[in-house]
Amino acid sequence: MHEVATWFSCFAVIDFIFAEKLSGLEPSPKIDFNDTAIAFSGKGNKELKWEYWLFRLMNNPTLTKFFSGLAQLSIRLHLPVKWIIRKTVYEQFCGGESLQEIVPVLKKLEEFHIDAIIDYGVEGKETEQDFERTKTELIRILEFTAGKSNIPFISCKVTGLTSFALLEKLSSGAALDATETQDTERLYERMHAIAAAAEAANTGLFIDAEESWIQPAIDAITFTLCRQYNKKEAVVYHTAQLYRHDRLAFCKTCLDDARTHGYITGIKLVRGAYMEKERKRAQEKNYPSPIQPDKETTDRDYNAAIDFCLQHIDNIAICVATHNEASSMHAATEMAKKNIPPGHLHVSFSQLYGMSDQITYNLAKAGYRVSKYLPYGPVKDVIPYLIRRANENTSVSGQMSRELTLLDKEIKRRRI
Ligand SMILES: Cc1cc2nc3c(=O)[nH]c(=O)nc-3n(C[C@H](O)[C@H](O)[C@H](O)COP(=O)(O)OP(=O)(O)OC[C@H]3O[C@@H](n4cnc5c(N)ncnc54)[C@H](O)[C@@H]3O)c2cc1C
Repeated sequence: MHEVATWFSCFAVIDFIFAEKLSGLEPSPKIDFNDTAIAFSGKGNKELKWEYWLFRLMNNPTLTKFFSGLAQLSIRLHLPVKWIIRKTVYEQFCGGESLQEIVPVLKKLEEFHIDAIIDYGVEGKETEQDFERTKTELIRILEFTAGKSNIPFISCKVTGLTSFALLEKLSSGAALDATETQDTERLYERMHAIAAAAEAANTGLFIDAEESWIQPAIDAITFTLCRQYNKKEAVVYHTAQLYRHDRLAFCKTCLDDARTHGYITGIKLVRGAYMEKERKRAQEKNYPSPIQPDKETTDRDYNAAIDFCLQHIDNIAICVATHNEASSMHAATEMAKKNIPPGHLHVSFSQLYGMSDQITYNLAKAGYRVSKYLPYGPVKDVIPYLIRRANENTSVSGQMSRELTLLDKEIKRRRI
């Protein structure tokens, strides 16, 4: 019996080799993003139906606009609406209000070999005390991640650690006054403390990319940190927004800097979240828009950035942070062509918690390193994040969103 099985598997391998040779096919990964059984394997029937109704509500632009306005107003007027928000969009897109509350979510993801990128989701703070509190919280998260291999990264927004105005001034290259110089020193001290804690915890630190008029200051800080903390492995990661026409070149600059200073660079690849704002400002202030002329050009540069980074995999660690199935498949295919194993330490994938499970769960099942970007924080402080998620899932032309289509398909498959 054993011999028959051995001969059978030999024939299968020979058959596979000949089939690939004869057809001239490139090696391809065995992933199917339409496999909704795997995509929703973490959800029971009740959860699935609930999620379907939530996405149906968000699919309606009028309802989304109405509820977004109501949520903002109610929080400002201290109306008791927290529990409604908490039971709906909050639980869909956030892990919990405290680090302890996200533990069950982390465990559930771990069952499916999915990691987490923890994000302290509080936004819009403007005082020195707030910045210090954010630094302390980020260091506390990093201590929490130590020894937990299912939390390989945390994310950090520089606008949570200093004022937007200072970042804008630094980015413009204008001379700083004495107070601004002191504030800049404090910002660098905070960033060094966070990066040192990341290194000690053996956890990667993603520095988020923001508006183009504050990004030069964010890039400068990130280069400083990379040179100091990435000597042995990529601890600190830049974020490249490929909706900008200069960011493919920026990936090359990151590699050059790593080679010159002898370290491994880290880059999180995203398309970019501030397109309308960028275009509007460029028009109002009469300068050329930094944004690509169209979506196709963004997609082209995004995939080109994946190719470039994979070509230099020994010097660059990447996170393919996208909900785009074609780009995710492109990265997996290029890895196969270049004989980069799915579990390579320099390649990971990521999607936001509550979105695109068809990508996350199918990549995890196929052995890729994939994580959910998991924000946590008090309900009232993550409202801006939740409104962005609701708007993202709103139908533009009356069509069902991709999330809704897949949920619908799985409900029909399960006949519930
Ligand atoms: C884990 C993770 C981390 C992230 N971190 C950041 C971050 O640090 N900074 C940040 O800015 N964003 C960040 N994002 C958001 C990201 O930039 C995108 O807004 C979002 O993921 C949608 O892009 P996509 O690749 O998933 O999918 P897609 O749906 O394929 O792409 C949509 C994106 O394409 C671009 N686009 C759309 N239309 C046009 C057009 N006409 N011309 C040019 N470009 C166009 C826009 O960037 C738009 O958001 C992150 C996303 C994830 C999943």
